[in-house]
Amino acid sequence: MAINDAVDWSLDLGGPIRVALVQAGTFRSDAGALFGPVPRVLWGGLVNDEVDDRHRLLQALNCLLIDTPSGRVLVETGIGERVDDKTREMRDYQGPWIASALETAGFLPESVNVVAMSHLHFDHAGGLLRADGSRAFPYATIVAQRAEWEIALGDNPRLIASYVQPELQLVEAWGRQGWADGEREIMPGVSVVPTGGHSTGHQAVIVRGQGPGARTLAFFGDLMMRPWAANPRWVTSFDDFPLDSVARKAELFAQAADEDWIVVLSHEKDHPIGRLVRDRDRFRYVPD
Ligand SMILES: [Zn+2]
Repeated sequence: MAINDAVDWSLDLGGPIRVALVQAGTFRSDAGALFGPVPRVLWGGLVNDEVDDRHRLLQALNCLLIDTPSGRVLVETGIGERVDDKTREMRDYQGPWIASALETAGFLPESVNVVAMSHLHFDHAGGLLRADGSRAFPYATIVAQRAEWEIALGDNPRLIASYVQPELQLVEAWGRQGWADGEREIMPGVSVVPTGGHSTGHQAVIVRGQGPGARTLAFFGDLMMRPWAANPRWVTSFDDFPLDSVARKAELFAQAADEDWIVVLSHEKDHPIGRLVRDRDRFRYVPD
């Protein structure tokens, strides 16, 4: 099926590799937690219009459908439809979930060959199963880092708080087939690159077009949720290894700025596509 007008945004990177943004609903997260160590006086003004009466920000669940001559890659699966009512209310989760969103955009879930997830927190790995427990992407391999699976299914009380272990246990055998140990090209032109920082086995997805005028697109997962994350020092309270986040962000963002990569933000609703430019000792996000 072709990329069509129902897609929020799509681009031919060259090769021909095409990428489409598919938003799998929204949820809300505590504003203070999203800004981590940054004092409120510095960030309050950035989110005045967005913060609700429970001090939460509106977070989109951004996913990418990458269409290549060799097959299709879906990046991220959102929260999904198996979330319980209490969590749905607490997070103010609004659909559509990923399978519905893909269909609306003209892609059948059955046509996905690889599902790559930046990490396995509930808002990224929740859409792997349908409500009845069957696989939402029956012909796909799942690619996440081995280190991420191991920590997600482990017993460290601090680190497992953001994972829904009973759900991950249901997909563990499926996920194990695609465990990645480090950087891997998962489809010609599409690579996963371990970053750590936000979570133990967090990874970025880099898509490289080919031929004249080819572009490179980067999805930095939750290292780059929202525009203000362009400052490498602005990390969230959800980052398990914040010093690693700062270091990896500085390194990856420098490459993205210098090589003029297209950058897609993981949780930005209205301006999720843009690029990074250097700004003194940090970077600035410029939406397209
Ligand atoms: Zn997230």
